[in-house]
Amino acid sequence: MYYVSTRNKKLKMMPAQAIAGGLAPDGGLMTPEVFPKLPPSALESMKDMSYQQRAVYVMKMFLEDYSVPELTAFAARAYGGGKFSSPDVAPVHTLDGSTHCLELWHGPTCAFKDMALQMLPHLLSAALTKNNESKTVCILVATSGDTGKAALEGFRDVDKTRILVFYPKDGVSEIQELQMNTQEGENVGVCSVAGNFDDAQTGVKRLFSDPALREELAGRGFFFSSANSINWGRVLPQVVYYISAYCDLLKSGAIQPGDKVNFCVPTGNFGNILAGYYAKMMGVPIHKLICASNANNVLTDFLRTGVYDRNRPFYNTMSPSMDILISSNLERLLFQFSEWDDQLVAGYMKELAETGRYEVSPGIRRKLEENFVAGCCDDEATARTIGKVWREKKYLIDPHTAVAFHVLEEYRRESGDDTPTVVVSTASPFKFCDNVLPAIGIQTVQPGTGAIDQLAQATGVEAPAPLAGLRSKTVRFHQWVEKEGMAGQVLEMLR
Ligand SMILES: *Cc1c(COP(=O)(O)O)cnc(C)c1O
Repeated sequence: MYYVSTRNKKLKMMPAQAIAGGLAPDGGLMTPEVFPKLPPSALESMKDMSYQQRAVYVMKMFLEDYSVPELTAFAARAYGGGKFSSPDVAPVHTLDGSTHCLELWHGPTCAFKDMALQMLPHLLSAALTKNNESKTVCILVATSGDTGKAALEGFRDVDKTRILVFYPKDGVSEIQELQMNTQEGENVGVCSVAGNFDDAQTGVKRLFSDPALREELAGRGFFFSSANSINWGRVLPQVVYYISAYCDLLKSGAIQPGDKVNFCVPTGNFGNILAGYYAKMMGVPIHKLICASNANNVLTDFLRTGVYDRNRPFYNTMSPSMDILISSNLERLLFQFSEWDDQLVAGYMKELAETGRYEVSPGIRRKLEENFVAGCCDDEATARTIGKVWREKKYLIDPHTAVAFHVLEEYRRESGDDTPTVVVSTASPFKFCDNVLPAIGIQTVQPGTGAIDQLAQATGVEAPAPLAGLRSKTVRFHQWVEKEGMAGQVLEMLR
C-alpha cells in the first residue's frame, strides 16, 4: 500500500518514507491510498488480545514495509515494561449503562500524546534504516507544554535519534517546566527561549530553514525532522485505541457484536478524532463522532455550516491543548470526503492560507453531517462539568475531558440519541490541578507541585507516579537563550 499527498495523489511513498518525511514535499499530508477493512470476525478475535497485540494487528495492516516481529518489539517498548501505569494501557472506565470513558493518560507524561509519541520514535528510527539513511535524525520541537514532554519521553534513548525541545520562558506552567527540565536520557536536550510560544515556534521554524546550520549539522552526521501531529506515524497509533475500546466494550458485555457506539472527542488539531473516523472506515460500528471544542470553536461552526473561518478572536482557555484555530489534520478528512480530489483540497488550503476561510462543497458537507456532530463550551461550563461529574459519579476529570462531557450532555439532550458513547479522556486531572481544584470547590491552591498532593488529599484519588515523583527529580537543564541564540544552542547541544 502506498501513501499519497492530500494535495497531489500522484506523489506516492512507501510507509517508511511517509513516516520519515513527515509532511509531503508539496505541503500536503501523506495519507493511505486505500483503507484496509478489518476481517468480519476481527473485533471478536481481538477481544482477548493485549493492547500491544491489538496495536500490532492494526498497524501491520497499514505498514507493509515493517515486519510483524519489528512491530511486536516496538509495541513492547512503547506500551510495555511498566511505561503505562495501567496494564490495559488504554482502559475503558464505565460510568453508567451508556456512558464510558476511554482513559488515554496512563502513559509517562499523563496525557494522550503518549499513545502516539511512545510509538512514533520506533517507527521513525526503523524507517531511517529502511531508507538507507546513515545520518542521525534530530527532532526539533517548539512546545507550549504537553507535546514537548511527551516527545522527550518518547524519543529518549531511541537509536539514531536526538531530540531538542525549546519552550517559551513565559508560556508554560511551573509543573510543565519541571517535567521537561528533569527529563532523563542521553539523547535529549531542553532549552527555554525568551518570550511566548510564538517566539519559540518562529525560532524553530527558522532553524529548519537555515541552510548554513543544516550544512554544518550534515557534516556532523545530523539532519532535522519534526514529530508534530500531521506525521502519519502519529495518527496511526491513535487508530488502535478506538478499535481497542470497542473490543473492551464487547469483552465487558456492555455491547454486542455489531452494536453501534458514539465517540465524543475533545478536539484541537483534529488528529485524535480523525483516527476515530479511520477506525470507522476500517469497519468499527461507529454511529457518530462528536467533536468537542472549547471557546475556540472554529470546528463547531465548520461541522455545522461547512464554512471554515479562522478570522475570529483567539482565547486562552483552561483546556490549552485545544486552543487552536487551524486544525491541520482536517485536511486528511477533506481529501477522503472529496473522494480524493487533490486539486479541490489544495484549493481549500490555499484559500485558508490567503484569506483564513473556505467553504466546502455540498457533497463534502453531506458526509460531514452523516458522520460528525459538534459542540463547544466555555471555561465556566468546563469547570461546572468537572464539579458535577465529581459530585455525581465520583470520577475526577481534567478540563479537556470535561469539555467533551459537557458537549455530550448537550448533544444527548437535543438529539435524544441514546447510543452507548465513549468519551475520550485525554489528560490526567493532576496535570491541571490549578483549574481542577477550584472546580471541585477548593479555592486556595498550593503553589507548584504542592497542588498535586492537595488534589490527591482532597479527593482520595491517587496522583500518577510521574507527577507525584517530580519533586525528587534532579533538574538537568537550565539553559536559556534569546530567540537569536537558538542556532548556537543547537550547535552546542549537537556536539
Ligand atoms: C493534544 C490534546 C488534545 C487535542 O487533540 P488533537 O489531536 O490535537 O485534536 C486534547 N486534549 C489534550 C489533553 C491534548 O494534549
